[in-house]
Amino acid sequence: MNLPLRPELIGVAPYGAPHPDVPVVLNVNENPYPLSQRVVETIAARVAQAAVRLNRYPDRDFVELRTALAAYLARESGVSLPPMQVWAANGSNEVMTHLFLAFGGPGRCALTFTPSYSMYPEYARDTHTEFVAAPRGADYGVDVAAAAQLLERHRPALLVLASPNNPTGTALPLSTTKALLELTRTSGPVGPGGEPTATVVVIDEAYGEFRREGVDSALTLLADNPHLVVTRTMSKAFGAAGLRLGYCGASQEIVDALTVVRLPYHLSAVTQAAALGALEHQDELMAQVASLRAERDALVEWLRGEMALTALDSDANFVLFGPFEDRHFVWNALLERGIIIREVGPAGYLRVSVGTPGEMEAFRTALKEICA
Ligand SMILES: *Cc1c(COP(=O)(O)O)cnc(C)c1O
Repeated sequence: MNLPLRPELIGVAPYGAPHPDVPVVLNVNENPYPLSQRVVETIAARVAQAAVRLNRYPDRDFVELRTALAAYLARESGVSLPPMQVWAANGSNEVMTHLFLAFGGPGRCALTFTPSYSMYPEYARDTHTEFVAAPRGADYGVDVAAAAQLLERHRPALLVLASPNNPTGTALPLSTTKALLELTRTSGPVGPGGEPTATVVVIDEAYGEFRREGVDSALTLLADNPHLVVTRTMSKAFGAAGLRLGYCGASQEIVDALTVVRLPYHLSAVTQAAALGALEHQDELMAQVASLRAERDALVEWLRGEMALTALDSDANFVLFGPFEDRHFVWNALLERGIIIREVGPAGYLRVSVGTPGEMEAFRTALKEICA
């Protein structure tokens, strides 16, 4: 039967990395450590409590969760936000969808700099927003002068930048973000009364907690920039990718706009309860992030030293390395040894997530063998 599928969706495959059943999974930047028994018990108790009231709709404003997330952000980045300036949804992917629904749309455009996260064009497609991708500059940074020209030419409603970026692992210097925030105060589409509008600048800090010492979060810029959104997630540092909880800090105007486009009761009572349970144990989870960071730095050093490869400085929980004449061969040879990493990013490069010490040892042994 001929179904009236939107023309731009015809023949399009759904997004998703392969999930083969292999012993060492280092391809989707998950936290390699399962939640501890203590955390599991807290979550289970909280969910049981929530289950008693599942006949009722959940708190649609999830005030308790926003309060806990604001307290966590204050501790993690030193930036205190009123709880109502924190917004959450089912993964930062849904937060991003809310942003596109509120600020994108037909006749509007979103700008990004590539290589970057492959979901961004999908949010644009799904919301009928034109998508403009320009190449990143030296060291995968964003050239401010090039950005200024693109902003003037396209007048984007959204500028989306991952920092630390995926798949490169590199963070934008705060000075670049500041310069972009100055350029975007009036660079958006013309408003309904002919007035200039801002471009909403989204800094995707999905890997924010893994940033190195001295790298500041863009959260520190929120106070002076009502057009800034900083997104975070519990999928990576918190070891809770299965929870589907992403969130952002932004001005009250932006959060009010996101509230308009969300589906009713989008965050289930079960999700809210489980997230609160995980947040109760933030000390334990933050200690784990510190050891993953150390493991990452050791990996970069090993790739550069012993393997004489290029490995980018990483502020995330993965490392982009290469170049290989035939990266698919290397990827496949690792898979044959029970290790899956990601074939993504600039030609010749591969991305590996940071795993447990045992997983990293297996990766090092296999890569040495393959490159010998
Ligand atoms: C993993 C990742 C996310 C996380 O998405 P969730 O929906 O929160 O799981 C967001 N942005 C980037 C760049 C990522 O790599």
